[in-house]
Amino acid sequence: AIEIKGLRKSFGDNEVLKGIDITIMPGEVVCVVGPSGSGKSTLLRTVNLLEEPTHGSIHIEGVDLLDPDGDVDKVRTRIGMVFQQFNLFPHMTVLRNLTIAQEKVLGRKRSEARQVALEMLERVGLSDKVDAHPGHLSGGQQQRVAIARSLSMNPDMMLFDEPTSALDPELVGEVLAVMQDLAESGMTMMVVTHEMGFAREVGSRFIFMDDGAIVEEGEPTTVLANPREPRTQAFLSKVL
Ligand code: ATP
Ligand code: MG
Repeated sequence: AIEIKGLRKSFGDNEVLKGIDITIMPGEVVCVVGPSGSGKSTLLRTVNLLEEPTHGSIHIEGVDLLDPDGDVDKVRTRIGMVFQQFNLFPHMTVLRNLTIAQEKVLGRKRSEARQVALEMLERVGLSDKVDAHPGHLSGGQQQRVAIARSLSMNPDMMLFDEPTSALDPELVGEVLAVMQDLAESGMTMMVVTHEMGFAREVGSRFIFMDDGAIVEEGEPTTVLANPREPRTQAFLSKVL
């Protein structure tokens, strides 16, 4: 399980996370929804240690992520992150994009890294793009490569920050399908998204954030059909 307790984050005088508590059990798919600037990305970035929290604690399987004596790089390899912008290495082939961190960070042999990469590319339906460069792929394909790259590191958990927001509408479905597949395989996931259909169908929990705090959470179909809090109601009435 991942346990986030009393998480606060300030940038100067601006407190953008105001005490977040979330416990995520293995296999849960937690969808995080909220207006722009509510702190969704900061929350994910903090869980992945891309930002240092001002207060609070994060434990993964009992291991303190913020332990100053801990190995940040090692912890980070256990948590995969997929961003809105795919962040692939443009000058490398798809295969190399998937093998480089396996070799450099995990110390896998080239042959093993290649085997894992091919397996993950098959999983996202891109076995035929092994030798392509990212620039020659569609946005949806690039994002699937980015997901496969994360999976190649064998993470315990995957974080997605609006993974389909930069895509043309007709390419959104193929990425959501890969994410649904991953969820059904039992991966623990935290997904910031505006795709309410995905939250409803695939999410096991729905969290609505506003102004750095969790305003409401619950089972997705329940919250989406019957939001209790006025701020959730107001937001959902605009996006549904
Ligand atoms: P969006 O839906 O637009 O992506 P968000 O919910 O992801 O919004 P965050 O990106 O987490 O929101 O930002 C929350 C607040 O933190 C904003 O006021 C933003 O300006 C501020 N912020 C985020 N990152 C930084 C930073 N590195 N330095 C200073 N302020 C930051
Ligand atoms: Mg964001």
